[in-house]
Amino acid sequence: MAYLGNPKETIAVLQKYGFNFQKKYGQNFLIDSHVLDKIIEAAEIGPEDFVLEIGPGIGTMTQYLAEAAREVVAVEIDRKLIPILEDTLSEYDNVTVINEDILKVDLASLARERNQGKPMKVVANLPYYITTPIIMGLFEKGVPLESITVMVQKEVADRMQVGPGTKDYGALSLAVQYYSEPKVVANVPPNCFIPRPDVGSAVIRLTRYEKSPVEVKDAGFMFRLIRAAFNQRRKTLQNGLHNSKELQLEKSTIVETLEKMGLPATVRGEQLSLEEFAQLSDLLQSAE
Ligand code: SAM
Repeated sequence: MAYLGNPKETIAVLQKYGFNFQKKYGQNFLIDSHVLDKIIEAAEIGPEDFVLEIGPGIGTMTQYLAEAAREVVAVEIDRKLIPILEDTLSEYDNVTVINEDILKVDLASLARERNQGKPMKVVANLPYYITTPIIMGLFEKGVPLESITVMVQKEVADRMQVGPGTKDYGALSLAVQYYSEPKVVANVPPNCFIPRPDVGSAVIRLTRYEKSPVEVKDAGFMFRLIRAAFNQRRKTLQNGLHNSKELQLEKSTIVETLEKMGLPATVRGEQLSLEEFAQLSDLLQSAE
């Protein structure tokens, strides 16, 4: 089987199987070999690695991963792609395709069964409609991870990297920066995909920290605070936290705690750094 990362081979496979793109699954297949090389290089895949690929499509990137890694598991939701993947990946005996919704796969068990519970590398050209739940799920569900190297919408890559005080700053920025070190590896224009997406894309590598640089007693509680703070973005932080159904905090306790931290009563969540959310979390946790 020829490499698929170019328009000619991709169109040939699509025609052979009479495949129709499903917009609802965020299907934009890569047709640029330079971008594929860049992703593989940034992910630093070696012969010892166990790789999880999310959404293999017709197997374009899976071929590269199979050649570089020890083992690849690729999770694809669209059952119409399964016979195509059997064909395009027939030469590789180290690839398993699972026909499932990635959000429903127990990835911690997968790592236990296939990689002795050791950290895995995740590589994907993500379906953009579920980027945030995929990334949050990987970090928050105790999946052993070394790195996540993914193609995302350019704007989402920006959101992952920014700090307080900007409109892009939010719960995703804080989660990504608490758990990992983000680095944009490449900007990718729409003409590198078929069909072309309406937005620009970027490849970002998130290298998981063994230990987060920010210390907090209970990260779960901190992220409940963060969600509450950004659920009502325009409200003051004290109102956002007080109104949240996820938290049972007295207004007076919140006011006193913000005062103790030297923050004004009118402060909004988007003005707090990760370190400040950690401090707020430690102080409020005992008060809940
Ligand atoms: N990796 C291929 C490539 O680069 O050419 C395809 C990438 S395409 C942007 C996203 C892929 O994710 C599609 O194959 C789509 O069917 C699949 N997908 C969408 N939602 C999914 C989900 N919930 N679970 C698993 N795969 C999903």
